[in-house]
Amino acid sequence: MMTYDWIIIGAGISGASLAYELSQQKFKVLVLEKDPIPDNATVYSYGGLAYWSGTDELTRQLGREGIELHRQLTEELGQDTEFRELDLVLTIDRDADPQAIAKTYDRFATKPQLLSVKEACELEPLLNPDAIAGCLQLPHGHIHAQKTTEVYLQACLRNGGEIKYERAIDFVRDNQRILGVETKLNTYYAANTIVCAGGLTRSLLLQTGIEVDNYFTHAQLITTPPVKLELQTIVMPAIQQRFALEAAARDLVFDNGKEKNEARSILDAGVVQFLDGSLCLGQISTITSNPHAKFDAAAEEAKIRQQVNNILPALEKIPGTYHHCLVAFNDRAIALAGKLQPFTGIQLFSGFTSTLVFAPILARRFARWLAGEADAIIEQLAKKIEK
Ligand SMILES: Cc1cc2nc3c(=O)[nH]c(=O)nc-3n(C[C@H](O)[C@H](O)[C@H](O)COP(=O)(O)OP(=O)(O)OC[C@H]3O[C@@H](n4cnc5c(N)ncnc54)[C@H](O)[C@@H]3O)c2cc1C
Repeated sequence: MMTYDWIIIGAGISGASLAYELSQQKFKVLVLEKDPIPDNATVYSYGGLAYWSGTDELTRQLGREGIELHRQLTEELGQDTEFRELDLVLTIDRDADPQAIAKTYDRFATKPQLLSVKEACELEPLLNPDAIAGCLQLPHGHIHAQKTTEVYLQACLRNGGEIKYERAIDFVRDNQRILGVETKLNTYYAANTIVCAGGLTRSLLLQTGIEVDNYFTHAQLITTPPVKLELQTIVMPAIQQRFALEAAARDLVFDNGKEKNEARSILDAGVVQFLDGSLCLGQISTITSNPHAKFDAAAEEAKIRQQVNNILPALEKIPGTYHHCLVAFNDRAIALAGKLQPFTGIQLFSGFTSTLVFAPILARRFARWLAGEADAIIEQLAKKIEK
């Protein structure tokens, strides 16, 4: 019988960082990932580290700790995460009031600098001056999210952890105790299982009768091969409609506790360039209760291109490939981390806000807490899962 201390379901950045941190605590860890070639939110992520975005003591502290962790992660893990400090430029629509929009950022730990159109175009020469009324500039961090995830997994393997490319299809149960995980090929036993399955977390748990407030959006985006053009910053809109969409998730997805079969979409035009010169152009976010919803790729790609071209016209003819993935979030806390009561032997680590900055630092704190260290932040988060 194959037995482990911890089984982790899902090898995106959440599962990979947690697997590494648990292996650092000398636990015997197994990661189960359904796709040998990853096709998840981590692969298609911009890679931005919004460490400036804390709005209360908890998120400000985690923002500070999160960016410090990233600054030394390449050295700690012995392989490159492609971390760098990079300005974030938030575009303000031509018809909007720059001062009013800048004011909406007063609640964040770091206040952005309001740039005139001229200043914005000096900082990011590819911007279309006719499309904007100005920009907000913030100090941001940047990693390659998938490379960071692979580096975490490698470090976990070096610590004695294992990874198997098998889909978790069910849990082994003894009443309300979870004893392990079933895949098509095997049954794996563990003292504890942690679900880090991104946008599929909710449906995976629902099939065993565990309901969590972990939702997802369908994200649609375009990736390009390396290009000669050089972006100096990460470009995103100052008003991101995605946050309002996520805030309304409960009402959009449910009606009197029943899942609705409706979809609502928004488009936040953004672009990031990676160190190899490739680009990610995004993104459409759609909320629906159906994780298997289908989209018209050509039509959706055209919508993204139209909005991106408006802000950055030089990207008009850039060749690219359309992609789709699920992005998990929740509307209770910055993450859902802790026990899934009344069950024992099963925990959750998913649904993050600003995942790339918060998941690695919370993985560290969570693993140490699971090993017996007191942690007021994790205890606070663990309480939020309880209904
Ligand atoms: C275009 C875009 C831009 C983004 N930009 C940013 C950004 O700048 N900054 C930021 O912080 N966040 C950003 N995000 C969000 C961020 O990328 C995600 O929140 C994060 O990558 C989620 O990581 P995860 O590990 O929780 O989930 P995922 O990366 O989705 O990984 C979950 C994994 O679980 C696996 N899985 C699911 N079910 C099973 C099963 N039954 N058995 C085995 N394996 C299973 C999946 O195959 C998948 O590999 C962006 C997302 C997108 C799409």
